[in-house]
Amino acid sequence: MKILVPVKRVVDYNVKVRVKSDGTGVDIANVKMSMNPFDEIAVEEAVRLKEKGAATEIIAVSCGDAKCQETLRTAMAIGADRGILVETTEELQPLAVAKLLKALVDKEQPGLIILGKQAIDDDANQTGQMLAALADLPQATFASKVEVAGDKVNVTREVDGGLETISLSVPAVITTDLRLNEPRYVTLPNIMKAKKKQLDTFKPEDLGVDVKPRLKTLKVSEPPKRGAGIKVPDVATLVDKLKNEAKVI
Ligand code: AMP
Repeated sequence: MKILVPVKRVVDYNVKVRVKSDGTGVDIANVKMSMNPFDEIAVEEAVRLKEKGAATEIIAVSCGDAKCQETLRTAMAIGADRGILVETTEELQPLAVAKLLKALVDKEQPGLIILGKQAIDDDANQTGQMLAALADLPQATFASKVEVAGDKVNVTREVDGGLETISLSVPAVITTDLRLNEPRYVTLPNIMKAKKKQLDTFKPEDLGVDVKPRLKTLKVSEPPKRGAGIKVPDVATLVDKLKNEAKVI
């Protein structure tokens, strides 16, 4: 069984992003970029499934500009066997990515597609669900445990108030939650080995997909600044302020 793992290049989670002065977006010039953390978990899970003998090949896919090759090399250093870059400088929205992934699913026929539950830059939480709909595949989102059993995959999901376990027939789409696993560190020998792995490049046109954005960003703004705190002399004043000023009790 092949596993396809889409990996997105995003601003590193340690970077505090700044809104551009004209309010058109956030400034990503000269900031550290990394693989989306949920996608690292997805690659790790695919590698663990391969180590257990449940998968034969792991293909990492990234859609974006040429720099996404770095993200693919990281995925290959974790253990993906090869990479596919869908290269474009166009802004990619979740529906466009889902369409590109659908074209690659048709081409590669993977048994599982493991995505992150969301990208930490757009926080859309849409691509996996859209892909499942476009490819007409069963989906299990927010996975905290994945077990392959023959032609079924059992996925435990974190839901309100507990855990839900569902059984899907493969091929299927899974999206990862934070507690699924802890990704391994990439070692230098594996980084070197990854440089030699196969990386194919396609353009969206090669896959017959129009990636033109459908949504327009109207404005991006900073969250309101937090006011300074105050000291209160006693509990009665505190309760009074919570009731009448903050109006939270
Ligand atoms: P989103 O729907 O944007 O929150 O993204 C959810 C997941 O879809 C991510 O964790 C990735 O696995 C995948 N994804 C989104 N955008 C891309 C992209 N440009 N390239 C590869 N994978 C992507």
